[in-house]
Amino acid sequence: MKFVSTRGGEKVSGARAVVQGLSANGGLFVPEKFPAVSDKEFDEMLEMSYPERAAKILSKYFDEYDSKELLSACEKAYSKFEGTDPAPLVRLDEGVYILELFHGPTCAFKDMALTVLPYLLRKGCSMCGINEEILVLAATSGDTGKAALEGFKDADGVKIAVFYPNDGVSKMQKLQMCTQDGSNVNVIGVKGNFDDCQSAVKEIFSNESYAEELKKHNVMLSSANSINFGRLAPQIAYYFSAYLDLVSSNQIEKGEEIDFTVPTGNFGNILAAYYAKRMGLPVRRLHCASNLNKVLTDFFRTGVYDVRRELYKTTSPSMDILVSSNLERLLFEISGRNSKLTAKRMAELKSEGKYSVTEEERQKIAEIFDGGFAGEEDCVEAMYDVFIDTGYTMDTHTGCAMKVAVDWFEKHKKDETKMVIVSTANPYKFPQDVLYAVTGNDVKDSFKGIKRLHAATAMAVPKCLKELRDKPIRFTKTADKRKLFAEVLEFVKNK
Ligand SMILES: *Cc1c(COP(=O)(O)O)cnc(C)c1O
Repeated sequence: MKFVSTRGGEKVSGARAVVQGLSANGGLFVPEKFPAVSDKEFDEMLEMSYPERAAKILSKYFDEYDSKELLSACEKAYSKFEGTDPAPLVRLDEGVYILELFHGPTCAFKDMALTVLPYLLRKGCSMCGINEEILVLAATSGDTGKAALEGFKDADGVKIAVFYPNDGVSKMQKLQMCTQDGSNVNVIGVKGNFDDCQSAVKEIFSNESYAEELKKHNVMLSSANSINFGRLAPQIAYYFSAYLDLVSSNQIEKGEEIDFTVPTGNFGNILAAYYAKRMGLPVRRLHCASNLNKVLTDFFRTGVYDVRRELYKTTSPSMDILVSSNLERLLFEISGRNSKLTAKRMAELKSEGKYSVTEEERQKIAEIFDGGFAGEEDCVEAMYDVFIDTGYTMDTHTGCAMKVAVDWFEKHKKDETKMVIVSTANPYKFPQDVLYAVTGNDVKDSFKGIKRLHAATAMAVPKCLKELRDKPIRFTKTADKRKLFAEVLEFVKNK
């Protein structure tokens, strides 16, 4: 399978797409076509374990990788998850399910892909004959950073630097990153928001003189953000797996269409659901849930993507994003794979802070996607209602998705399509906000929050969060968003 850039020009192998992360012209790599899952393969997958299902999906895109190796990489990756199933489906109510993607080593759904990406990258480098040291850069709204650090720590021939918005992540997220161990890692707080981090990192990728400079030090850049196709591919697998679980537990009939509601920031998670649909998974609609930063909600309604607005800091920080990078991949598909038009729209976004799609394109998108958002109180209410009605505790990001799903149910009372709500983080990652939602109690300290939340819910506290309390802080540095390359260079030189 070959990969092309959403902005035209390049055509590369899967290995190359992963290693490079971003196309040289700033576009994102997308598969040349969507591989299909046949009926026979679908039946075979019913019997498979999660790692087997994941390896099967990966092998469709990364057909030049050895399939046995892919399987052992997936087995190794998902053995790091707590419990027997890395992506369990919980039945909340009649026809409503939660897909829990937070049982990995850092308690957020980013682990589903970032435990596998190091293998795809390392193997990709050897297949492409790359001898340089790889420097992975990641901009993070909180969860990618930690998951990438865990995935890449102490990996041979790789260094990783993470940039997070200094005042834009939760206390727990910051603590998780700043206490990271490993000899090849660096964590830097950026004075700015996530969009500043992401655009500064993208700038570093597309600056040729920076690449030259790094080459002198025998270093090549790669990305751990969902702009990297190697991040997206493992995410497609859990949509298949959730569907297969519904079939094998007789909750749905094979072929029956279902809906997903996905808490969305950079549009990576929900795009993977769209890719699953394009591969033949019977998905009817995708509900894109935002928080107060509802650029996407407005886009689905009006066809205008307009980031000229204030970025709100919310209790779902991993969704505090205005520029959702992966939407570029959807635009590319919806425009009939028109790379010139996609490039033009992205240039407009950069220069004018907005672009629009045609009414015809907007309707095409609306056949599959709709968007909704949750204000801060809406999110609290949704979490509280579920807790009171069912005893289930969810995190703030999933709370936003819950609100959007409930709005859909209210508006479509006769709709019997089953709904899967994607849960992206362990509630203990945001203990104070979750505690407030389910009990009304306010505590200042995160660990007191954990203790009280445990008392209120009896949910097990994940070890990786409990032990943070005693870990020494290793990283305290902050940098100006215009000076991130200097930080990168310093890190590179510092052998
Ligand atoms: C990253 C993240 C999201 C947003 O996912 P995207 O793929 O960026 O849309 C939502 N919730 C949590 C907890 C996250 O970490």
